[in-house]
Amino acid sequence: MKWLACELHTHTLHSDGKQTLHELAAGAAKLGFDGLALTDHNTMSGLADKEAVEQATGLVILPGMEWTTFYGHMVTVGLSALADWREANRGNIHSGVSAVHHHGGAAGLAHPFRIGSPACTGCYWEYEVDDWNSLDYIEVWSGTFAPIKTDNSRAFSLWTDKLNEGYRLAATSGRDWHEQSETDEPVSVTYLGLEDEAGQVSEEAVKALRQGRVSVTIGPLVTLELEATEGGPAYGLGSIVPADEASTSARITIDFAVRSGLWDLPNPDYRILLTSNNGVLEERPLEASDGTQDLHFAVPREGLLWIRAELRGIVRGVRTMVAFTNAIYFE
Ligand SMILES: [Zn+2]
Ligand SMILES: [Zn+2]
Repeated sequence: MKWLACELHTHTLHSDGKQTLHELAAGAAKLGFDGLALTDHNTMSGLADKEAVEQATGLVILPGMEWTTFYGHMVTVGLSALADWREANRGNIHSGVSAVHHHGGAAGLAHPFRIGSPACTGCYWEYEVDDWNSLDYIEVWSGTFAPIKTDNSRAFSLWTDKLNEGYRLAATSGRDWHEQSETDEPVSVTYLGLEDEAGQVSEEAVKALRQGRVSVTIGPLVTLELEATEGGPAYGLGSIVPADEASTSARITIDFAVRSGLWDLPNPDYRILLTSNNGVLEERPLEASDGTQDLHFAVPREGLLWIRAELRGIVRGVRTMVAFTNAIYFE
């Protein structure tokens, strides 16, 4: 599995950003990203230079748009054409999501608990959602140094609540990146797992997002797999483990070498956790290293709906989440 380092929420001069697509992509390349989604407000006009910028910077640019409406902002990624946001009203977001899917895209709640009107009209999510399975993801980490922010904690809890209710949806980060300015705050990365490495990268990336092959971090890359029984398949992030699968062992892999030199978390005092709808299944201390570590955990299957891995540690003096995987589901 190739893990593509992505920034999934960005703006340019085509909406309220203060950067061209080229400046944005060059800045992302410098930060070690492999891809970005351009999600200007209610327009896809900024994508006119997409191919030229991809060639100049080596980045994959996913065509997207941020639906910017009175009742909420919805990030969309991977569309082949514009899906019209103007008919969206509070009771019918599902028809909007269907339109995004019709054009090959994925749809997610943007910064759902950011302060709304009058500070930022529409920034707070107020759409009624009848079926959370129809949405693809929730942007649970918005901005820089995302894990310590209160509105992000609420978004992360919303995601966990929906998983506990039996819905299957992904969780991402997005910087909501408007301009090239230096920040010394930790920057989040959403890693998308490309199943077919020989396939078309942007299509594989959108598939990963829709299927939950997603891991989010401000440091090392954490991945999780339910290990195979003798001769059987292993189950990765976003997979649904069938009821008759006998494997009760999960493997968490922590890759400290990703984006080497571009993040630094001194004296982190890491703890790695395997969590689930039944709470924390196990928590262990973890030593940082330069390479990759594999850890094995027993998974008690009774009453289990989902599991995920979480890496916590001390960042800038605050004990917080450093990374989390998306879920593996159980039938
Ligand atoms: Zn927004
Ligand atoms: Zn935005």
